[in-house]
This record gives sequence, C-alpha cells and structure tokens, in this order.
Amino acid sequence: MSNILITLDYELFFGSKVGTLENCILTPTSKLVDILNRYGVKATFFVDSGYLVKLKELKGQFPVLEKEYEAISSQIKSLDRDGHSIQLHIHPHWEDSTFNGKRWIIDTKRYRLHQFSDSQIDDIVYRYKRVLTNMVGDKIFAYRAGGWCIQPFAKIKNALKKHNIYLDSTLFKNGKNDSHTHYFNFRGMPEKTEWRFEDDPLEEKEDGFFKEIPISDYRLSPLFFWKLVYFKKFGGAEHQTFGDGLAAGGSQLDKLRMLTRYTHSVVSIDGYKSSFLEKAYHSFLKRRDYKNFVIIGHPKSMSQYSLKKLERFILKNKNRNYITIRSFENDL
Ligand SMILES: [Zn+2]
Repeated sequence: MSNILITLDYELFFGSKVGTLENCILTPTSKLVDILNRYGVKATFFVDSGYLVKLKELKGQFPVLEKEYEAISSQIKSLDRDGHSIQLHIHPHWEDSTFNGKRWIIDTKRYRLHQFSDSQIDDIVYRYKRVLTNMVGDKIFAYRAGGWCIQPFAKIKNALKKHNIYLDSTLFKNGKNDSHTHYFNFRGMPEKTEWRFEDDPLEEKEDGFFKEIPISDYRLSPLFFWKLVYFKKFGGAEHQTFGDGLAAGGSQLDKLRMLTRYTHSVVSIDGYKSSFLEKAYHSFLKRRDYKNFVIIGHPKSMSQYSLKKLERFILKNKNRNYITIRSFENDL
C-alpha cells in the first residue's frame, strides 16, 4: 500500500517583512494540528532552525526574542510529543541577518548553503541540527534544502554525511529556478517516489548513503494560475493566507511562464494550490511503482480555504497509510 506524507516547512518569510512568529508559524500550525489530531494523522515539520539558532544567540540581549524562543520551542516540543516528526530545514542566510531591537534585517546575499566555505557549511549543519536535537532528542536525520537549493549536492554532501543526515526530501519533478537568490534544476530526476543516491540526487545509486523522498508534483494548466491570482485578490477572508510577512519575490519571468504555459507544481496545501490535492492524489494512484505521496505546505501560506480542503482530503482518504519521515529512520 502506498503512503501519504504531509510535510511542512516551518518558517517565517524572508522578504522585506518577515512577519510575526504568531501569524506565520504558531497560529496556523496549531490550526493545522487541530485537524490532524482529530483524525490521528501525523505530519513532518521541516523546521527553519537557523531562526532558532539566531533566537538563542540573541535572546539574552532582547527580551522580545527570549519570549519568541520560549514560544517556538514549546510548540516544537509539543509537536514532537504528539508524534509529529521534527526534521532539518536550512536557510543559511540567517548567518548574515541581524535584529535591530525592533525587527529582523534579513540579508539574502548568501541564500544558498553553497555560498559558504566547506568548513562553514560543516559548522552550519552541525549547529542547525544541534539546536533541534537539544529540543526533541536524537531524532534528526532528514533534510529539506531552503528554497529547494540543494545543487550541486557534492558541495554539501560531506557535511550532511558527517552529521548523519541521510534522507532528503527536496526534489520535485521538473522543478527549476535560476534567479539572483535561487538555483535548482530537477529535470531528469528518476520517475520514482524513493531512491538512493550518493553524489547527485538526480542520479540513482543503489548502495548510496542517501535516500531521496521527493515531493509529489502535479501538472497545471495556465488557467490554474489565473484562478490563483483571482482568488488571492478577490476571494475574500477565506482565501487570505495566515502569514503576515512578504516573500522574497520570484522572478517576473517565472510568473509570466506560469500564466501562459503548462508547468509542474508541488502538491501543496498552501492557499489555492490545495484545490488540486484530490486530483493530484488520483493521478498519483494511477501511476505504477509509486509508493509515497508527499504533500508540502507552509503554515504561513495556508488559509481557511486550504485547511478546509485538507480536512476534506483526509476525510475522503481516511483509511490510507499516513506516515511521517520517521518511518524511514535507520532505513539504510
Ligand atoms: Zn524554507
């Protein structure tokens, strides 16, 4: 039987306005967990641990950050106690970001882990993993790259291996982005839902150290994005996303491409994207050799509408096998 994994990138925004911890993370996560708990479904949270490292570093100087640190650690610990899985999400630009007493000044000149030296990468993976291990214990073995920027993998491979991170869940079919902050290109990845690899996640290697569990994808017509833009503008309160920050913008060219051509999207519970959850699952079930249906979401980008869609999806597919990334622990 195939598995369903609900995975969340648990983070603030990284544009000119990061938004509040309350509205981007705490409130939407507890709304989501209320639904999941109702049906006994467990999820995986890829925690932006650079934020935690920064809070820990600065909380002695700023009481407001001390409060944030308390609040976010208490939610992470309670997610862990409830049986959800806490895993590693790295946004290394926290290294260059500062707090001015009132707000975060986010500097994304080094948005990709690859822009740091080998020894810095090693140190970042070590510290970002440790802050999570200190909260929930020795359970951290899976990774999702910040902004999907995992390539070239060879540059970060040794650091992940050394700190015993052996599972990745970053790739999605035909994913591609090349901007001043981002770079990734997943064209040509294996047509599977799990495989092993060593130096390049796009290249299956049976005895590789790492395992890839890609995010599921769905092919979207341009019409979809016209609807998305429409509901965002005119959909009313139900379509308002919970987060109150601003995203570091995608390129205008990408936006234009989505509105004019067929594109591949991740299967997501963010905002209006949740409208194709059920359809995406049906087309997944028709494929051969497909084991894991991996849904992604961001608490900051969810809305009342998307939570309703998720609940409807779970209700319709109640007897399915919902698992977390923890099911793959020690699966070497
Ligand atoms: Zn992220």
